[in-house]
Amino acid sequence: MSAQHEAGMATTHRVVILGAGYAGLSAAIQLACRAKPSENVRVTLVNAQERFTERLRLHMAASGQPLAELSIPELLEGTGAHFERGWVTAVDANAKTVRIDDERVLPYDTLVYALGGVADTPAVPGAEDHAHTLNSAQDAEVLADRLARLGSGTVAVVGSGLTGVESAAEIAERHPELTVVLLGRGEPGAAMNPKARAYLRAALDRLGVRVRSGVEVVKVLPGSVELAGTVEPAGGESVAADVVLWTSGTRVSPLAAAAGLTVDEGGRIVTDTALRSVSHPEVYAVGDAAAIRQGYGVMHGTCQGGMPTGVHAAVSILRELRGRRPRPFRFGYYHTPVSLGRHDAVVQFTHPDDSPRRLHLTGRVAVRYKETVTAAPWATWGRMKKMPASGAFWPRGGRFTRVGGAR
Ligand SMILES: Cc1cc2nc3c(=O)[nH]c(=O)nc-3n(C[C@H](O)[C@H](O)[C@H](O)COP(=O)(O)OP(=O)(O)OC[C@H]3O[C@@H](n4cnc5c(N)ncnc54)[C@H](O)[C@@H]3O)c2cc1C
Repeated sequence: MSAQHEAGMATTHRVVILGAGYAGLSAAIQLACRAKPSENVRVTLVNAQERFTERLRLHMAASGQPLAELSIPELLEGTGAHFERGWVTAVDANAKTVRIDDERVLPYDTLVYALGGVADTPAVPGAEDHAHTLNSAQDAEVLADRLARLGSGTVAVVGSGLTGVESAAEIAERHPELTVVLLGRGEPGAAMNPKARAYLRAALDRLGVRVRSGVEVVKVLPGSVELAGTVEPAGGESVAADVVLWTSGTRVSPLAAAAGLTVDEGGRIVTDTALRSVSHPEVYAVGDAAAIRQGYGVMHGTCQGGMPTGVHAAVSILRELRGRRPRPFRFGYYHTPVSLGRHDAVVQFTHPDDSPRRLHLTGRVAVRYKETVTAAPWATWGRMKKMPASGAFWPRGGRFTRVGGAR
């Protein structure tokens, strides 16, 4: 039973949530709306910008399509949650404080760590200096500006995962004057069923994207990228590229590791079944920054899984404050929607472990489905403010997600 529960909820319980992305916002709204006034829970949400970054649309922003102005403080209006704008520079897990912009210090009783992840540019020499990323709206806008001024030339999109595919398709459609090359180890859509994968590939061909799979980029230079030993022993092949977009890999903030929290090899916070840090149970980790084990393995970063983790953390914090044990988190994947420019898309429905089902959508229906999913979070949060319980519906994944008898 928590000290606060024993003390009759007299003291304020300070919950600080780091990161107002899909997971952090879900946690903040759920917690603020579900806590009773008598529970004296103070929720503070910290984020680098006031504007919400719609990561799901950054490939559109990169090709020159403006993002909506979505204000985080406005969204929080009426919930009682406080917004603190600033860059988190340190977490002191012993003192239970976070440092913001190297000047402000915020104390917490419970921390929700939701700082997300970005493309892994340090993995390859030159990528930090010479490649663009979709790490933020600003990065996407810088790329859009560069592409608009290019006139002609080649854009190399590195990474044949779904962000790479969506970006290559969008850029090719918006900039027919440019040559777009998609480079990566795997085949685009590799995790889809053969028909969906073939559809995706045909769409990329139609848009003029030159796909080179089975290659590894080992260096980024001004004006080219170098591939691993394809022309041994002389060295790697060079692919000319006026602009490089790096979408490969995921890197998380080093703050959790620096604070002494247990992290996995990628720096993500390792959680227990309730989403608490295994080394610091007063820290919850959610979204892309967390290594969350399910029956099928450790979850990979998505918005579809990230929002439920935020909701679950909020519900668990309140259960703990009420003297109850948090329930195990269970999540099963259900779809992979991929846009292929503005007029085409493919949606692969999946088993809870993310393996493909036979069912998939293509063409206009898939475009509508994808847009509905992409636009859904803002509407979902609006609904959660009115009906907090509506946030707690997602597929639990049955036998696929059970870990050691969890129900
Ligand atoms: C182009 C693109 C398309 C995608 N499409 C899909 C899709 O169709 N479906 C899907 O499920 N997933 C998709 N994803 C993945 C999805 O965007 C991520 O899984 C999701 O954003 C993770 O949510 P999050 O809340 O963990 O992190 P984020 O949404 O990244 O939020 C983290 C927040 O923390 C802030 N932050 C980080 N560090 C600091 C700091 N030190 N101080 C202060 N603030 C900080 C960031 O500014 C950000 O606001 C896509 C990603 C990209 C890039």
